[in-house]
Amino acid sequence: MTSSVSTPVVDLAGVRKTYRSGGANGLVFEALRGIDIKVAQGEYVAVIGPSGSGKSTLMNLLGCLDTPTEGTYLLGGEDVSTMSESQLAVVRNRRIGFVFQQFHLLRSLSAWRNVELPLVYAGLSRAERRERAIAALTRVGLGDRVDNRPGELSGGQQQRVAVARALVTEPDIILADEPTGNLDSASTDAVLGLLDELHASGRTIVLITHEHEVAARAERNLVIRDGLITDDMLVSAVAR
Ligand code: ADP
Ligand code: MG
Repeated sequence: MTSSVSTPVVDLAGVRKTYRSGGANGLVFEALRGIDIKVAQGEYVAVIGPSGSGKSTLMNLLGCLDTPTEGTYLLGGEDVSTMSESQLAVVRNRRIGFVFQQFHLLRSLSAWRNVELPLVYAGLSRAERRERAIAALTRVGLGDRVDNRPGELSGGQQQRVAVARALVTEPDIILADEPTGNLDSASTDAVLGLLDELHASGRTIVLITHEHEVAARAERNLVIRDGLITDDMLVSAVAR
């Protein structure tokens, strides 16, 4: 793997994603039609676009949940565009922290047990996992809720548990897909404030949203329409 200060964390070049349905003579739909995106270390980027524009398809590629039909994806300088499913699973676990709209917490596990899960796959001892999970929960302001299950927490607190889980492996990039889509406005503020703090502490964040107010919290906005990036602009500090 090559790595230097100038290597972008994310480097997509000529990325296309085609969905085929109904076999050889079935329908073909090009959800991404040639995407070039570079994200530098420490950037906070929002991808904004209307429903059906290709945001989730892009998120799945960025998160190594899927591979492009055409084009290349270098993650931290490493080509992940042609990796096998098992290679991608390792990359996802080590290098990417996910935050989803639906939280995706396990209901039967306490907050700290949810947060330690990525470390189980990474092979750490139980004592070290617990220590790091509690540190991550403390980081998101939930140091006094480590033994609570998701059902005992508010939506905003559950999403903060999910952010702690995304952080605990110290990933290269945090990918958040509509992270405030299921939250009331107070919890939305809390989660966006947390992302601001993570950005300020040097984290690289890509946030996907259809809401302008949410996108405006990032320092850079990429606009996606019909599978193409149509705008790439800096958000002024005033707007933020
Ligand atoms: P967004 O997240 O911005 O709403 P998506 O990435 O989910 O957009 O979808 C982009 C386009 O690709 C849509 O027209 C959608 O219908 C189509 N699409 C998404 N997933 C599939 C799939 N698995 N098979 C066929 N078409 C798909
Ligand atoms: Mg979507």
